[in-house]
Amino acid sequence: MTTALFGHDSSLRHVTPNGHPEQVARVERIMAGLAAPQFAGLDRRDAPECSDADILLCHPQAHLDAITAAEPESGTVALDGDTHMSPGSTMAARHAVGGCVAAVDAVLAGEVGNAFVACRPPGHHAEKATPMGFCLFGTAAIAAKHALERHGLSRVAVVDFDVHHGNGTQDLLWNESRSLFIGSHQNPLWPGTGLPEETGGHYNVMNLPLPPHSDGRLMRATYEAEVFPALARFKPELVIISAGFDAHADDPLAQLNWREDDFVWLTERLCDVADASAGGRVVSTLEGGYDLNALAASVAAHVSVLMERAG
Ligand SMILES: [Zn+2]
Repeated sequence: MTTALFGHDSSLRHVTPNGHPEQVARVERIMAGLAAPQFAGLDRRDAPECSDADILLCHPQAHLDAITAAEPESGTVALDGDTHMSPGSTMAARHAVGGCVAAVDAVLAGEVGNAFVACRPPGHHAEKATPMGFCLFGTAAIAAKHALERHGLSRVAVVDFDVHHGNGTQDLLWNESRSLFIGSHQNPLWPGTGLPEETGGHYNVMNLPLPPHSDGRLMRATYEAEVFPALARFKPELVIISAGFDAHADDPLAQLNWREDDFVWLTERLCDVADASAGGRVVSTLEGGYDLNALAASVAAHVSVLMERAG
């Protein structure tokens, strides 16, 4: 088996204002990196457009309608200080959701060992009825709900190692007792949520704030002490990763000092978790990462591990 790589050209048509860190070039650089000969074995697939019903697994109809209606006919429009839409943004976001849903389908069908979804906009800041932090729809949470509701899984873990707290995924899965959402993130940092006392409606949320300027050693110790024991107790049948690479030392939006080898270590250990209870099944989806060189290198490192572990 191999690793599926989901992408779609619509990711290139979601345009943000000049100088915005969440830019088209992110996906261009990631895909250029994944064109190297060592990635020839990837099972490359188009991320399909999702259905309305996929979005409605986590969001009310009013949110879908508001996003669709907000798309401008030209130029860009700001939904808030960070979050922008251009012509094509709604379709890009629908393919990002569809990529995650299709990745769950492919992994659960045993067509591939694991999958990486390299679409944009990202998703983990989108709350039930509020677009936020460059995100329109909650891609990782929708993937989890899809696995629970439609594939009948009993336990799905979502691990979010983006440097920003995944407030949206937390909001969307707050009362979902069949999921365990675990987020590590820099604190203090935008959006300011993600404190340890936020534990979900069923103790199904775990937050691990990390101090600014800390490095991969603290991350590894924290995951060993808190995250892996919790995942071992939960015994997920599928591991979904919200893979943001903005904890990298070179990232301009935050002050953690992780390196590529930290992302390699973390990916390997999360694959160990999946091996233990989920038959190795991992679906990873792109969130942040804003230094283009660090992003491309970190994604390449992450996907290399996924390929190695897919067998
Ligand atoms: Zn982030």
